[in-house]
Amino acid sequence: MFSKFLPDIYQKSIYKINYEKLKSCGIKCLIFDLDNTITPVTLNKPTKRLKDLFNRLKLMGFKCLILSNSGKKRVEQFKNGLCVDSGFSCKKPSNKKYIKVMNNYNYMPDEIAMVGDQLLTDIYGANRMGFTSILVNQIGKKDLVISLFNRFIEKIIFRTFRKRDLFTRGKYYD
Ligand SMILES: [Mg+2]
Repeated sequence: MFSKFLPDIYQKSIYKINYEKLKSCGIKCLIFDLDNTITPVTLNKPTKRLKDLFNRLKLMGFKCLILSNSGKKRVEQFKNGLCVDSGFSCKKPSNKKYIKVMNNYNYMPDEIAMVGDQLLTDIYGANRMGFTSILVNQIGKKDLVISLFNRFIEKIIFRTFRKRDLFTRGKYYD
């Protein structure tokens, strides 16, 4: 049961992910979570650094998308700033929007990687779909209130991982 929460890849941030390797493994589509993955919750616009990364990924041939549980207004500021398709109020880990992505863009699960900062939404959702799941450390210290319960459960799962020697914070792998 716990294996569904274990990320395939774990990196410090979206800037440390080996995108060349993902490409060589056949990944064509990158789905990013928004809050605390590509931006702290305190910012309303993408930074220059984030824009540069997305431009680089697009040049590499990746289809980049944002799927967030946040509302329309917030998500659209990043959708427009980064010129990507997006989904808001996704209710991750619900697979509804993931299935929509596969159908709309014609990708197989093994061609999609999901990047996020939360085990219960991003990683669990991706693993269940058969996507490559990539965990990054939470960017900001601040969480949305809605995430606080998830963080509590997450702590318990991390503790179990550590006991079974499956995962340790700060021990990055890909
Ligand atoms: Mg998040």
